[in-house]
Amino acid sequence: MEKKGKLFVISAPSGAGKTTLVRRALEQFPQLSYSVSHTTRNPRNGEINGKDYFFINEKEFQTLVDQDQWIEWAKVHGNFYGTSRDFLEKKLIKGDSLLLDIDIQGAKQIMEAGFTLVSIFILPPSIEILQQRLENRGTDCRAVILQRMENALVEIDQQSVYDHVIVNDDIDQAIADLHLILENEMRFL
Ligand code: 5GP
Repeated sequence: MEKKGKLFVISAPSGAGKTTLVRRALEQFPQLSYSVSHTTRNPRNGEINGKDYFFINEKEFQTLVDQDQWIEWAKVHGNFYGTSRDFLEKKLIKGDSLLLDIDIQGAKQIMEAGFTLVSIFILPPSIEILQQRLENRGTDCRAVILQRMENALVEIDQQSVYDHVIVNDDIDQAIADLHLILENEMRFL
């Protein structure tokens, strides 16, 4: 299969500011499509099915695992997340470039599947600031925050798997850093 589009994978511990960065990147690069993942977690306030995620139940998710329909999938913070193989391959064949917001387990699976991709990891300025951000955003209870902090440490430890690392200390600087990476990579399309 000839794959013409380019794949960008972006990962970060939750609370590192990835959502804002991804949103800005999509505004700045209209030629970049967002890869809408499937998840078994419940929608948060304001999230739209088919735009933020496709929300499905565990049985549906497992059926698609059995049918080998995921190009990658993982259990993250207790819920299942996956990227549809069909969706991804169709987009690439069409020549679209895709931005995948997925965790490190998924990123590694895509790398191992032999796709050419550009991978970017977003780091918080410090662990203390990460914890503070998770507490301040008020979307998660204490147990969830602790689980996310534990996962963050594991992910941060593996940042060298990625092509680029951006420290999100100042959001405007981080947006500019991401813009530069994307601009350089898109130039060769
Ligand atoms: P959230 O539930 O906060 O939206 O996302 C939790 C984590 O799941 C984030 O690290 C996000 O990048 C990751 N994630 C979202 N979609 C996918 C996916 O399709 N595959 C994998 N492996 N991780 C995903």
